[in-house]
Amino acid sequence: MFKTMKKVWRYIRKYKKLLVISITTMIIVQILNLASPLIVKSIMDDYLIGIEDAWYETSEETSVYYNNKYYTQDIESTNGAMVVIQRANYYFVDEIIDLEYIRGNKEVINKDNNITEITFTSQQNESLTVLATKLNKSEVKMFYNPFINPLQVLVILLAVRLLLQIIFSYIQRITTAHINVNIVRDARIDAVTSLQRMPISYFEEEPAGKIANRIINDVGGMMGLFSTLMNLVLNASMAIVLAYIGMFYLDKNLALWTFIIFPLVYLWVKYFVKSLNLIAVKVNEQRSLITAEINEIINGISILQVFNYEEETITKFNKLSKSYMKEQLKENRLHLGIGWNMIRLIGSLVTAVIVLYFGNGYLTIIGFTATAGTIYAYNTYLTAIIEPVGILFREIGNLEHSLVRTERIFKIIDGEQESDEFFETPLIEGNIKFNDVWFSYKENHPVLKGISFEIKPNTMVGIVGHTGSGKSTLMNLLLRFYDLKETDSGSIEIDNKDITINPKRTYRQHIGIILQEPILFAGTLLDNVKFGTNITDEEAIEILISVGGEQLLNKLPNGIYEEINRQGSNMSIGERQIISFARVIAHNPRILIMDEATANIDTETEEIIQNALNKVKENRTVIVIAHRLSTIKNANKIIVLDNGLKVEEGNHTDLINLNGIYANMYRSQIKSAKTE
Ligand code: ATP
Ligand code: MG
Repeated sequence: MFKTMKKVWRYIRKYKKLLVISITTMIIVQILNLASPLIVKSIMDDYLIGIEDAWYETSEETSVYYNNKYYTQDIESTNGAMVVIQRANYYFVDEIIDLEYIRGNKEVINKDNNITEITFTSQQNESLTVLATKLNKSEVKMFYNPFINPLQVLVILLAVRLLLQIIFSYIQRITTAHINVNIVRDARIDAVTSLQRMPISYFEEEPAGKIANRIINDVGGMMGLFSTLMNLVLNASMAIVLAYIGMFYLDKNLALWTFIIFPLVYLWVKYFVKSLNLIAVKVNEQRSLITAEINEIINGISILQVFNYEEETITKFNKLSKSYMKEQLKENRLHLGIGWNMIRLIGSLVTAVIVLYFGNGYLTIIGFTATAGTIYAYNTYLTAIIEPVGILFREIGNLEHSLVRTERIFKIIDGEQESDEFFETPLIEGNIKFNDVWFSYKENHPVLKGISFEIKPNTMVGIVGHTGSGKSTLMNLLLRFYDLKETDSGSIEIDNKDITINPKRTYRQHIGIILQEPILFAGTLLDNVKFGTNITDEEAIEILISVGGEQLLNKLPNGIYEEINRQGSNMSIGERQIISFARVIAHNPRILIMDEATANIDTETEEIIQNALNKVKENRTVIVIAHRLSTIKNANKIIVLDNGLKVEEGNHTDLINLNGIYANMYRSQIKSAKTE
C-alpha cells in the first residue's frame, strides 16, 4: 500500500500548488464546521434559554420594565427576579432562585384567583415552592428584548459561516478534481508510452482487451486512491480531531469516554478489510475478463457471424457475467451486513449513552448538568466523529479496489521495458549469419533446431516451409522480438557482429519489415507512407508510384491525402501491401524482411507485389518468407525449413533438381494453379 502510494505520489507531485490549495481549503472548511455547533449552542444557551438566568433590579432605565421596576442581567445586585419556562409558558417569580432548582424538575400548580405556584425539585432532591405570575405574550417579548441584537449577530455569523463553507468546499472539490483529471491523463500517457516498448512476449500473454481495459479503466484506480486518501486520511481524520477539540472544550470526561469506540472500530475494520480484500481481487479479475471477452467478440465479429458461433459465445459470456455478478453481490452483502450498518449501530449506541448521561437529570454522580445547547453541540460533534468512521467503511472498499487497480496500471507503467536507447550507427553491409541456432519459446520445446545459414549483402533470399515449420520464428529472432535465452544456443550475426551488442531500437534502424498482415494506422495515406521519416510529400507520391500505387492514387478522391480507417479496413489486402512497400522504401533500410500474406490473392495483385518487390530489392538484402513460391523463383537463394530444421538450401533450379520438399511443394502449387 505504501509502495503504491509512493508511485501515485510521483504523479501528484507535479500538481503541488493545487494540492496545497486543496488541503488548505479543506482545513478551513473543517474549522468552519467546528464553529457551527458552538454558535448554535450559544444561541440556545446564552440567548434562548438565557432568559431563565437571574434578572436584577436596576435604577437605570432598561428595555425590561415590569411591575414598575427595571431589570437587567448585566449588573448584579441583591434584589432580583426570575423568568421560568415551563411547557412553552413563561412565569415571573419575584425572587432569585438557585439555578440548580431552575434546571431541575418543575411542577406548576394553578390555584384559584390567578395565583400560580411552582415547585422545583433539584438534582439533590431538595424542593422549593414559590409563587409565580404567568407572563402574557408582550411581556415575554419584552424580556427577550435585550437578546435580540446579539442574537441577530449570531444568526448572521451562522449564515456567513455557511456561505464560507460553501465557497471553500467548492474550491476544495474543484482543485481535487483538477488534480484527479491531470494525474489520470499523465498516467494514461505514460502507460501508452510504456506499452510501446514492452517486449512482444507481453502481448502474447495478455489479451489485447485486457490491456486496453487496464489503460482505460484502471487509471481510474489512481483517481480513486487519491480521492479516497484525501477524503479519508486528511478530511476524516481532521474532522475527528477537530470534533474532539470541540468535545473536550464542552466536557472533558465524556470526551474521554467516547474513546472506547476506537479500539472496537479498529478491530471491526481490520476484520472487514480482510474479507473485502479477497473479494475485491476477484471482482476486478472478473471485470477485466468480461472486458476482454467483449473485445474478442467485437474483433472477431465477422468470424462469429459467419460461423454461427453466436449462441456459444453468448453462453460463454453469460457464464462470465454470472460469476461476475456473484462476486459483486458478495461484496455488496459484506458492505450491507457488516460494513456501514455496523458503524451506524455503534453510533446509535454511543448516542444512547450520551442521552442517558445528559438527559437523566438525576445522574448527579458526575456533578454536571448540561444545557440543551451543550447536548446539541455534543451530539453534533459525536456525529462528526461517527460519520468519518462510516465514510471509512464505505471508502475502505473503494480503497481496496483502487489499490488493486493502481497496482495493475503501474505494472504497465513500470513494466518490463525494452531499452529505448537510440544512437546512429554506421550503415551496415547487410551480411546475415545464423550459427547453429537453437531456440524455444517454451522450455524443452525447441522450435528451431540448430539452424545455420549465411545471407550475402544485396541478395534476395526466400524462406519456405510448411506451416509451423519456424519461418516466422526465424524472423522474430532476426528482428529481435525475441532474443536467444540462456537455455537456447548459437548466435546470430550481422556483418560478423552479434546482433545483441546494441540496444534493440538502435539495432533496428537499418531493418525494415512487411508483415503477413500489413498494418496500417488511422491517418492519411501520406502519414502511413512517411511514418516518421522526413521525406517530402512529392517524394512520398513518387515512392508510392514506383511500387505500383498509381492506380490506387488515381482512384482515391483525395489522392495521397485520403484518410485511411483504423487498421486500414477501407483498403484491400493488395493495396495495403503496396502501402507497406512504399513505407519500407521511404525508410530505406539495408535489410528488408517480408512475411508474405498467406491469403490467396488474385494474379493482378500478385503481379503488383512482384513488381514492387523487384523495385524494393535493389541495393538491399531482402528476406522473403514465401507462401507462393513464384514470388521467390528468382531469389539468389532459397532456404527450406521443416519442423525447425533447415532441410534444403540453394536456388530454384538447384532445389528442383534435388527433387525434395521444395520440388514437391512447387509441383503441387503449379498443379493447383492449373486446375484453377
Ligand atoms: P506459418 O507458415 O503458418 O506462418 P511458421 O513457419 O511461420 O508458420 P512459426 O510461427 O515460426 O511458424 O511457429 C513455429 C512453431 O513455434 C509452431 O509450432 C508454433 O506453434 C510455435 N510458436 C510460434 N510462436 C510461438 C509463441 N509465441 N509461443 C510459443 N510457441 C510459439
Ligand atoms: Mg508465420
